[in-house]
Amino acid sequence: MTSYEEARRTILDRVAPAGVERVLLLDAVGRVIAENFNAPKDMPRWDNSAMDGFAVRSADCSPGATLKVTDYIPAGVSSDDVVSSGCAARIMTGAPIPPGADAVVPLEETEQGEGSVKLLHRVKKQDHIRFRGEDVACGEPVVAKGTVLGPPQVSLLASFAAVLVPVYRRVRVAILSTGDELVELGTEPKESEIVNSNTLALAAAVKLCGAEPVILGIARDNRASHLALLSEGLKADVLITSAGVSAGDRDLVREVLAELGVVEQFWKIAMKPGGPTAFGLKQGVPVFSLPGNPVSTMITFDEFVRPALLKMMGHEKALRRTVRGYLKEDVRKKPGKLNFLRVHVVVEDGRFLASTSGDQNTGILKTMLRCNALVLLPADRAEFRAGEEVDMHILDQTLEMEA
Ligand code: AMP
Ligand code: MG
Repeated sequence: MTSYEEARRTILDRVAPAGVERVLLLDAVGRVIAENFNAPKDMPRWDNSAMDGFAVRSADCSPGATLKVTDYIPAGVSSDDVVSSGCAARIMTGAPIPPGADAVVPLEETEQGEGSVKLLHRVKKQDHIRFRGEDVACGEPVVAKGTVLGPPQVSLLASFAAVLVPVYRRVRVAILSTGDELVELGTEPKESEIVNSNTLALAAAVKLCGAEPVILGIARDNRASHLALLSEGLKADVLITSAGVSAGDRDLVREVLAELGVVEQFWKIAMKPGGPTAFGLKQGVPVFSLPGNPVSTMITFDEFVRPALLKMMGHEKALRRTVRGYLKEDVRKKPGKLNFLRVHVVVEDGRFLASTSGDQNTGILKTMLRCNALVLLPADRAEFRAGEEVDMHILDQTLEMEA
């Protein structure tokens, strides 16, 4: 049996970024930029006014002075007319500073007359001017390779007129559920049938990673059905299967994958839930065979598949952060395996406090609803006391920000 740490290491060692493509700026949102972006120009590109007001020569500007208004410069217009001694140019925010001027006087610090303006306060050289290159200098590194692109990066790239940006490719993730008891959503399950909810849970999780789910449907518990659909799945960048990976008579996934040339890297992890998980590779395509129990499926996805997908899409931080927190109640488990305890965490005084989110039986799906973190209960122990410090994986990023 493989340890949890070994399983994660094996997976992350075997996957690599899937490739780079140039996409329209908005299609790059949430994705990882694949090259450093250095400013191709100064930003701003010219000295410009930070206020609506008057461009002046500061030497002329004692309080109470009256200047003749000789020019009008709205945003989007530049003027070559020199502001000469005793004169001012009406100027709007963002418009280039005209030659001769070395300061801007905000409108609210003036009294406007007919063709003239009276200054109410002192004016210093450089007042209210945004200087060329003061935001970003030409050549400055602004967005580093590996950055996830959000509104600030998009804004900056757009302001430098970057139409297409190089980002890591989104991976296509084939999802195959297996089992004779399954019907697709939309078909009323007869007695002894259940809806194929795992495909939907996996597709949802794949989407939240920023990858593209490819839904293959249901493989029935026979070799022909498995062969057809698994070979279809191997055409994607990643293949995930649900169920049929335990030791049951009809658990065919591993056998058929092997037949299709998938080289198994491990099967069975010393953890609960998620023990029967298998991982294999075929020519660089990672294949995750997850247990069918919906709770196990979701937890193993989060612990093993999600980091792999993120790494394949260029993310430098593929793993969820492990934080130290505290148990709010006593917990017992069987010794022998690492347990992932579904908990509801609150943050109090900057500390993560975890209560179980309900019945920890893997058949209890409801417990996932309130679960915003997983506590890692070490294999060798059986009893944990309220107040004990434990490691946990935070599933909800807003919670992480609260601490
Ligand atoms: P198995 O690994 O095939 O023994 O399945 C374990 C449990 O998960 C069984 O109770 C299955 O009915 C259930 N299960 C398997 N596949 C799915 C699925 N796609 N959606 C929901 N539950 C499933
Ligand atoms: Mg089954």
